[in-house]
Amino acid sequence: MGFDRRFAFCVALWATCAGCSFHHKPAATRPAATMPALSQRQPMPLDDAMHLIDHRAAWTDLPPIDVPRNPAEKHLKDLTIVIDPGHGGADGGSGSTRPAGYKAGRAGEKEAYMNIRVGLLLERLLKDAGADVVMTRHGDDTIGLRERAEVANNVKRKRDGGVGADLFVSIHHNAGGGRGTNYTSVWYHGAVDDNEPDMDVARYLDLELSKAMRTQIARGAPIYSSQLMYDSGFGVLRACHVPAVLCECSFFSDPDEEQRLRDAGYNLREAYAIYTGLCEWAYCGRPTQTTPSVSGSGSELVLTTTLDEGIPNWWGSDRNRIVASTVQVTVDGQAVPISFDELTRNLTAKLPSSAGNGEHVITIHHANLLKNHNWPQRYQLSQSSAGAAVTALPALRPSRQPPRRATTRAS
Ligand SMILES: [Zn+2]
Repeated sequence: MGFDRRFAFCVALWATCAGCSFHHKPAATRPAATMPALSQRQPMPLDDAMHLIDHRAAWTDLPPIDVPRNPAEKHLKDLTIVIDPGHGGADGGSGSTRPAGYKAGRAGEKEAYMNIRVGLLLERLLKDAGADVVMTRHGDDTIGLRERAEVANNVKRKRDGGVGADLFVSIHHNAGGGRGTNYTSVWYHGAVDDNEPDMDVARYLDLELSKAMRTQIARGAPIYSSQLMYDSGFGVLRACHVPAVLCECSFFSDPDEEQRLRDAGYNLREAYAIYTGLCEWAYCGRPTQTTPSVSGSGSELVLTTTLDEGIPNWWGSDRNRIVASTVQVTVDGQAVPISFDELTRNLTAKLPSSAGNGEHVITIHHANLLKNHNWPQRYQLSQSSAGAAVTALPALRPSRQPPRRATTRAS
């Protein structure tokens, strides 16, 4: 923290403690004479700290709204993020062709409207952070599910000029369970081994949304596969070829929550929670690897790539920061022998002789010390008389079948 920011922090802290409100004014207008020295502030006695515990708020009490810049937002810079406010237009918007009451609370608040308010606020927060933001809708528009996904699939990535967003975030609110049901869930597509980068970000978003909105945290799992809901999963996630998640922020079917969701200030809590979750996710890095090359012939095919943790050269960057136990290479779903050099981060894999002909799907899998997984994870290996060609494939969304379910469970 630089001197100016330290100064501003001290003033804001003092003003907050003194119960006055001028800390909402810009730092430049604060009179220098009011600056308290840090050493002059009285430390809190232990009894007072215990008193705070004795009188702590209920989980459902919302703290005052506050939207400070998260220092980790710098890691969002130039990431291309598609925000998808769910529904709208003919699908539950002003020109809805759906039955009366579709995607609306008992008092009539439409989900499409709360989704767009959260989306617009999130757009503003992410653009302020330097992210490259694309909205699937800015107004009360009618947009199909595949059309929304195609926005993410076809957008040009700002960081490296590739095609496909770094992330697709769909914003929704939930219904069902009757009065009093009000929890947050974030959804990904596929089985747990299919889309690890999606699960990475889903976790951060759920925990931050639950905390900001004081929904019923720990009522169930924070994240779910959309294929638990429908065998084929959510159409919008299935159609995305990039990391994609869908937030069901809270339940508009709960009358109390519906009243809160009418308030843009409450929507700002949601948007800020998603922003915070994205800051934390981006801070933990986007591991990747060089496009693999394949050399040799027949039964001596060797794949070579160099892994990248996707994080800055922080202190300790001269040591390995990739969790070696997570490094894996598969060919057509079968793990193959690998050799990983922790110092150079070079990875070699011995491919089966069957890979010497035709086309094969190779996955490369690893996670950094902050537990974010690499993307892309899939490549297509094409062998011809001209040699081997390796190209990146979309995220793994192959299945209209649900993840396999155990018929019996061990007790
Ligand atoms: Zn919805």
